[in-house]
Amino acid sequence: MPRIPLRLLLLVPILAVLAPFCFAAETISLTVDATKSPEHLLRVHEVIPVKPGPVTIYYPKWIPGEHGPEGPISDVTGLKFEAGGKVIPWKRDTLDVFTFHVEVPSGVTELHARFDFIEPEGNSATDQLTVLEWNDALLYPAGTLAQQLSYEAKLILPEGWKFGSSLPVASDADGTVTFKPISLDLLVDSPVIAGRFYRAVDITPPGEPIHHELDLVADSEDALNLSKENQQQMTNLVAESGKLFGARHYRDYHFLLTLSDHVAHFGLEHHESNDSRLPERVLLSHEAGMALGGLLAHEFVHSWNGKFRRPADLAVPYYEQPMEDDLLWGYEGLTDYLGPMLAARSGLWSPEEYHEYLASIAASLGPGRPGRTWRPLLDTATGVAGLNDRSRGWFTWKRGTDYYDEGDLLWLEVATIIHRESHDQKSIDDFCQSFHGGLNNGPEVKTYTFEQLVAALNAIAPFDWATFFHTRLDSTAPEAPTGGIENGGWKVTYSGEPSKLGGRRGTPTDIYSVGLQLGPDGSVADSIYDGPAFKAGITSGMKIIGINGRVYSHDLLEDAIKDAKDSAKSISVIFVNDDYIKNATIDYHGGSRYPHLVRDDAKPDYLDDLIKAKASTK
Ligand SMILES: [Zn+2]
Repeated sequence: MPRIPLRLLLLVPILAVLAPFCFAAETISLTVDATKSPEHLLRVHEVIPVKPGPVTIYYPKWIPGEHGPEGPISDVTGLKFEAGGKVIPWKRDTLDVFTFHVEVPSGVTELHARFDFIEPEGNSATDQLTVLEWNDALLYPAGTLAQQLSYEAKLILPEGWKFGSSLPVASDADGTVTFKPISLDLLVDSPVIAGRFYRAVDITPPGEPIHHELDLVADSEDALNLSKENQQQMTNLVAESGKLFGARHYRDYHFLLTLSDHVAHFGLEHHESNDSRLPERVLLSHEAGMALGGLLAHEFVHSWNGKFRRPADLAVPYYEQPMEDDLLWGYEGLTDYLGPMLAARSGLWSPEEYHEYLASIAASLGPGRPGRTWRPLLDTATGVAGLNDRSRGWFTWKRGTDYYDEGDLLWLEVATIIHRESHDQKSIDDFCQSFHGGLNNGPEVKTYTFEQLVAALNAIAPFDWATFFHTRLDSTAPEAPTGGIENGGWKVTYSGEPSKLGGRRGTPTDIYSVGLQLGPDGSVADSIYDGPAFKAGITSGMKIIGINGRVYSHDLLEDAIKDAKDSAKSISVIFVNDDYIKNATIDYHGGSRYPHLVRDDAKPDYLDDLIKAKASTK
């Protein structure tokens, strides 16, 4: 078993400064040729110092931030090993497709590995730009901790392309960028964005000693036009993070933002940067602040919560060791609470947008979501590595990655309990400063367990936190936990007034009335299990094509829902199931329903106190 020697390494306590200069062996040379990136191809050449005999080589499997064995091994092709000018045959491990075995001949000290990485269509590269996550384009030898493997990485870019990254640069000439030698874990944690259209914007607040930068690449020059207002709000975000955490754990920080309609839209956190991807023209739209606050604030918070403070079972010493995801409600849930809070404090979101956001996630989680009656919140975290298939709907019955959204509500409730139990003497900010603060030793990892998290909360506000979390995490109650909203002096209500925001799971739809979440063309992304549309036979994957005798449009459906309110009329639907055309009648008379927050005047407004600006950047 090739992995056995590594088991010994697992005994090493993972409380360490990820020292970039503490290496066990000679440096591995890695060259990624991205000149064919517009054609969706990366060419990799790696020179690995070796000793003669059997050598095991890994392709990274469990990727930090992805919380699962998501390394894109199926896109590795053309793999060849050479040593001493001769081709060395390789064998894939029979139990693990990410593991390769080679026999190095005597006298050989360097193993050359070459392969192509085929950029998955629509993921990370377009004709004009690329996002390089290094774990896609490297191999590493078994037997040494990732933090003790040294890499000298070179990146060859198409002519005229510029780049942004938190990686320290040794030289940049003739289209080849050479980065300073760095440990494997920091390399994998330091992506590069590059493209023809590139802009760097300094967002370091006045008086802040650590440099913060927004690096933009886009499919067009126009798309780089960040407004002065958004630039100020991003600067505010950096200032607010300093107030909230009272410390930073990086040398400098780069928001790496890719703007394209031809890449997947998501964010991936790193310690000294984040890889965030949004539609091409989002900065030119009135939704720019909402988009920046929704994605970049979340990924930025991860530098403290997830990267610096990390659940012990997610801090694995090399990429073939499985992660355990059961504390993701801390890693992602707390981040998903703090990100929007900072977005509101920095002005990227208005208070009203923050209220609408909270209302939409509370409504999307229940009541009326039967998934929560069989599958506790904790299981959405524990099971994510094998169950995170978002492609086929049915989420109101299966549940999805609810540790994000429900984590918002959970940690808002924590914030209000700290306020209550400390008699207004302490706040969530005090917890963040104690839990995420300390000295800046660069990108350091400090792991924690459930017990340590509970102890840290108790040090701020004594309370039976363990029972509180167990109750929330193990609950199969039909209602979402809205105690934080209510403790904060607000309530979730429904009215016919459309939401200012869509639910986190899609665009504004009628999901709260007839129980449908629909794409613009009427395709059914989700149908609430046992809801009115579900009872009429309409489920995920089908497509609505007609409403009350006319070709489907969202407005016609909305009109039909209003007409059927408190009347004997029902809603007549024509839909497609596979290639069969079907008719259905939705028996629903409750009218349009959209979630909102309203003030509860019987209680002080603590919710809005939590989102007031704390820092000054003027
Ligand atoms: Zn996250």
